[in-house]
Amino acid sequence: MRFLITAGPTREPIDPVRYISNRSSGKMGYAIAAAALAAGHDVTLISGPVNLDPPRGATFVSILTSDEMHDAIHRCLRDCDALVMCAAVADYKPAKVSAQKIKKGNETLLLELIPARDILASLPKRDRHCLVVGFAAETNDIEENAQKKLREKNCDIIVANDVSRPDSGMESDANEVTIFFRNGEKERISRASKKIIARELVKILINSREKCLTKKM
Ligand code: C5P
Repeated sequence: MRFLITAGPTREPIDPVRYISNRSSGKMGYAIAAAALAAGHDVTLISGPVNLDPPRGATFVSILTSDEMHDAIHRCLRDCDALVMCAAVADYKPAKVSAQKIKKGNETLLLELIPARDILASLPKRDRHCLVVGFAAETNDIEENAQKKLREKNCDIIVANDVSRPDSGMESDANEVTIFFRNGEKERISRASKKIIARELVKILINSREKCLTKKM
């Protein structure tokens, strides 16, 4: 199977030296890429800026902004069987990027933000040949938000995790996820290292892709 996996944060520039980003470490996405490679699959990893080495054997695409991530995904989408959108893509970006460094002053500085392009929502809705897996990092109402994302972002699967806990989720080496499927089923992977979670997740995705192809999902 050919996996297209995204990982890490995006950086949305404010001026030549400043940007808006988030705490995503890329660990979960890189672990999924490594698990898929170890199981003998093809992997393309599209990554934002992180402190991790690309897994050996993956085709690696490095990006910075959400627009670059959007373009890279659309370029690679045709050649994949499963898109795993693990990256923490920006939801908002500065309305305009200053060409020069913004000077410090004593007045309040207001930064206007506009919605970044929603990449999942931009994918073709019909006749898709690839399984589309979104992630939901939530601090509250996890199940409700995951179900909403499944519908609104037209995903086949949403992997939800609770990022309000200090000992799992963002930046941590451990995680705990619930996987929501389109047919209403859900499956929980209890707290474990991201490496173990990734291995389980890859197995579940391979199974789901087969079910999707035979329309049992
Ligand atoms: O709505 P929210 O940002 O919580 O959704 C998370 C999911 O949507 C993740 O899979 C993320 O990669 C994806 N996403 C996206 N485009 C954005 C923001 C998030 O595809 N601009």
